[in-house]
Amino acid sequence: MNRFISIDDAALRDAADPLAPLRAEFHLPTRDGEEVIYLTGNSLGLQPRGTEAALRTELESWQKYGVEAHFHGPNPWMPYHERLTDSLARLAGVKPTEVVAMGSLTGNLHTLLASFYRPTAERPLLMCEAKAFPSDQYALASQAQWHADGELFEIRGTDPEGAPTPDEVLAAIEAHGRRGATLLMGGVHYFTGRSYPIAEITAAAQAKGMLVGWDLAHAMGNVPLKLHEWGVDFAAWCSYKYLNSSPGGVAGLYVHERHHGPEVFRLAGWWGHDKATRFAMPPEFVPEASAEAWQWSNAPVLGMAAQRAALDLFDRADLNAYRAKSLAMTDVLLGMLDHLAAQTGQEIKVLTPRAAKDRGCQVSVQFVGRDRRFFDYLVSKGVYADWREPGTVRMAVAPLYSSYRDLARLEALLAESLTK
Ligand SMILES: *Cc1c(COP(=O)(O)O)cnc(C)c1O
Repeated sequence: MNRFISIDDAALRDAADPLAPLRAEFHLPTRDGEEVIYLTGNSLGLQPRGTEAALRTELESWQKYGVEAHFHGPNPWMPYHERLTDSLARLAGVKPTEVVAMGSLTGNLHTLLASFYRPTAERPLLMCEAKAFPSDQYALASQAQWHADGELFEIRGTDPEGAPTPDEVLAAIEAHGRRGATLLMGGVHYFTGRSYPIAEITAAAQAKGMLVGWDLAHAMGNVPLKLHEWGVDFAAWCSYKYLNSSPGGVAGLYVHERHHGPEVFRLAGWWGHDKATRFAMPPEFVPEASAEAWQWSNAPVLGMAAQRAALDLFDRADLNAYRAKSLAMTDVLLGMLDHLAAQTGQEIKVLTPRAAKDRGCQVSVQFVGRDRRFFDYLVSKGVYADWREPGTVRMAVAPLYSSYRDLARLEALLAESLTK
């Protein structure tokens, strides 16, 4: 069988890739002595080589200074979270005052909704996409239940698995937006890999008088974001997927500066209190005039140290080159899958939209009629992807460490397993 991408083609493309040198900054897992083809950066990103030293630095500060490490050592802990702010602001496309590293994704969704989902009898609806990630479904349902006037409205659709297309979202906003309090959606759908037009959907829902937030778990470090310019009200993300910041790593949130005033209701904690008087510990909460006002607790320094090491690598990457590589690699992946289908007669259904504007790093496909043995064989050969019945495989490239050689090796292994 001739190949869609040969090892030689791949070598040429890797040589021309401006991001290729960053691969050496990561630990690539191995299997039977060979680097695996790692396609699950959308689930857990790989460990940067700098992570260990970053953790060691803070462990040493703790050893040497104890509590005084809040003020001493190379990175005093008191303002530690601020060390992440600029890098996160760049990836989210926001002002540094609008972003903070904190908490966990689901926890951040809850604390943001406490501020930005305040249903009334006239506007009861919390609108979201059907077939959202399970944690979001549970979190949003409980938010709607919590308020006497709350009501969840899932926008159903015709995409694979029943998630809505952008047109179906816009139609639902048009039809029901006047009863909507808040729209909260995933920016990139975790299952299909569809990237939603955040600016357009945000503007449509806001025109109906709704507040609009986005879950960017699969969007941060994946697709280009300009949350401030798009006028998005709020957003949250986790950092262990494309951001490579360690399992369960510290999450983040964004709040547009128009909501930074003291009149906004917040579920408060001491780290959100005005820094100037935080340690005077006055009885009344005075919020910081920034996204930091949503912080509850002091910084989990070790987790943030790991995230700092991961963001150092993003800081070195030109984001246009990052997006270009993501699209070029997923183009190769899609072309390769079509080629394999034609050559082997295997039906391969692509669940991810093909247009560049509608996708990021992930390609989800169904190998029709294949069962788990097909996938287990791939894993045994060092292809790490994500399996879901029936026959569905989610594969994500990660522009900081994925190579075209990975794709060439993937094609050979897929060809072999489909003709076995
Ligand atoms: C990964 C993911 C989560 C996970 O939530 P945690 O609170 O980090 O466990 C939630 N929502 C979406 C959309 C995700 O992709």
